[in-house]
Amino acid sequence: MSDIGEASHDGSRSGGCLCGAVRYEVAGEPEASSICHCVSCRKSAGAQSVAWVVFSYEGFRIVSGEPAAFRSSENVSRTFCVECGTTLTYQHDEDPDAIDITAASLDLPDEFPPTRHVWLEDKLAWDTVDDGLQRFERGSSEGESSEGASS
Ligand SMILES: [Zn+2]
Ligand SMILES: [Zn+2]
Repeated sequence: MSDIGEASHDGSRSGGCLCGAVRYEVAGEPEASSICHCVSCRKSAGAQSVAWVVFSYEGFRIVSGEPAAFRSSENVSRTFCVECGTTLTYQHDEDPDAIDITAASLDLPDEFPPTRHVWLEDKLAWDTVDDGLQRFERGSSEGESSEGASS
């Protein structure tokens, strides 16, 4: 496990769940990076908000383990580790070419800082958002596929 936290030779990034059962790799540069405050994200992660990094699905692969999937709405599939419950990915049926990955499940979670907040209309009252990032009451207009677009 000494290679955790380092980009592999082909530039792909690695990540995984808390217990280590599920490991993934993702290649390419992210299309977007946002913090989502929607109810589904909050519930699924048990957190006040979730930071997502959107990648091309083409570059994503599970290296070990098998995450479970849950449909949080008709068109949305979220995956998580069945052993430890870590929220891993989000995918929308209408955009199968993209996959949102939880920033915090990456081995280098600081690598892709968020650029915007989405679904602020669902934000918890005590969750202070004062970081100067772009703000969207609902989904962002760009990156229709991303978690920011619909949930
Ligand atoms: Zn796990
Ligand atoms: Zn969300």
